[in-house]
Amino acid sequence: MKGLNRRNFLRTSAAGVAGIALTNNMNASNTAKEPNQTSIITRKLGNTGIELPVLSIGCGEVDSPAVIKAALKVGITHFDTAYRYQQGNSEKMLGKTLKDVDRDSFIISTKVVRQDTDEKFLEMLDESLARLQMDYVDILYMHGMSKAEAIKNPANIAQLQKAKDLGKAKHIGFSTHKNEPEVIEAAIEAGAYEVILTAINFKHDDADAIKKQIALASKKGIGIVAMKVMAGGYLDKEKTKTVNHAAALKWILEDEHICTTIPSMVNLEQLQINMAVLKDVQLSSDEKNDLALAKNEQGLFCNDTCNTCVTDCTKNLPVPELMRAYMYSYGYRNPLQAKELITTLNIENNPCDDCGSCTVSCTKSFDVAAKIKDISRLTIIPNDFLA
Ligand code: SF4
Ligand code: SF4
Repeated sequence: MKGLNRRNFLRTSAAGVAGIALTNNMNASNTAKEPNQTSIITRKLGNTGIELPVLSIGCGEVDSPAVIKAALKVGITHFDTAYRYQQGNSEKMLGKTLKDVDRDSFIISTKVVRQDTDEKFLEMLDESLARLQMDYVDILYMHGMSKAEAIKNPANIAQLQKAKDLGKAKHIGFSTHKNEPEVIEAAIEAGAYEVILTAINFKHDDADAIKKQIALASKKGIGIVAMKVMAGGYLDKEKTKTVNHAAALKWILEDEHICTTIPSMVNLEQLQINMAVLKDVQLSSDEKNDLALAKNEQGLFCNDTCNTCVTDCTKNLPVPELMRAYMYSYGYRNPLQAKELITTLNIENNPCDDCGSCTVSCTKSFDVAAKIKDISRLTIIPNDFLA
C-alpha cells in the first residue's frame, strides 16, 4: 500500500467499509462522510452522553491533516492529544485541520499534567485551547497519574473540576500507564472522574487485573478509553517483526466495557489497516495465533509496574519510564516523544557510564543498561533532527 494518497485511500476504503454507516447521533454534516457507511460499531462513553466509534486516533505522533480528514470521512470522530505532544504542534495541527468543521461533529480530548496551583493548571489548559482554536475540549485528562493517593487527592480533583465549571472542559478524567489496577480502583472510590484513559494490551502482564477494574469502573458509569494497545507496534528494535495491529485492537475491543481505542495512525496506510475494527471486533483464529506468538516474544513493551527494577538500580534510575521511551522511539518510531519523556526525567546521556555492572533484573529479561545507553543518546540530539 506504499504511496497511498487521499484519493486512493477514499476509493479503496469505500470498498473496505462498504455498508458502513454511523448508528450514533454524531453525524458530521460538514465533514462530508462517505455515503456508504453502515454499521460502524459505536459504544457509549460511560455516563457522559458521548457515543464513539470503537476506533479513535491518538495524535501523539500524527502530524498529517490528511489523516485527520480521511478519518472523519470514514466516521472516526474522536481525536486524542495532549499539552506536550510534539511540543504543542499536535494541538496546533488539530486546530488548523478542524477549524472549519462543525464543532459538534467531533470529540477532542487533551491532557494537562497536574500543577501545584489551579492557576497554572488552567493557564496550561488555556494554552492548549488556544492551539486547538477551541473554546472547550470534550474531555480533559489529568496526564499520567500513577498513584492511588494522587487520584483521591481533593486538590487534583479540584483542578479538573474548576476547568469543567469554567466551561473549558465538558468532561473530566485522567490518563494512566502505571499501577493501573489500583489507580482505577481509586477512581471508582473517588467518584469524581467521568472518563479513564488507561494503558492495556495483550502483552501486559497485569491485563487481567486491569480488566477487572475496568469492568467495575464501567458498571459505575465511568467511560473507558484504551491506549498503548499495540504493545509497542513492533516486537524488535530492527522492526522486522510487526504486531498484528487489527488483532491487537480486537483483543481490546472484544471487552465491551472498553468504549474506544486511540492507536496512533501516522499515515493513510495505518488508518486503512486499523479501520477493519470499525465493523468487526471479533478475533479470528489466525489473529489469536498471531497474538499468542507475539505474546511469547520479549518485544518492546515494558509493564511499567514491576518496580523492582527501580530498587535494583544502584542509581535509582526511572527504569520503566526509560523503557517506555525506548518503546516510543524504536516501536512507535517517535524519537521526539521519547526525548520529551526523557527530558521530564532529567536524564543525561549514558547515565550508566560509570556503573561497573548492572544490578537490575528485569522480569522481561530486558538488557536495561544497553537500552538506557541507547535511548539516552537522544538527550544530545537537537529536536530539529527528531521532528
Ligand atoms: S547499569 Fe544503569 S540501570 Fe544498571 S544498575 Fe547501573 S545505573 Fe542502574
Ligand atoms: S522489570 Fe522490566 S518489564 Fe518490569 S517495569 Fe522494570 S523494565 Fe519494565
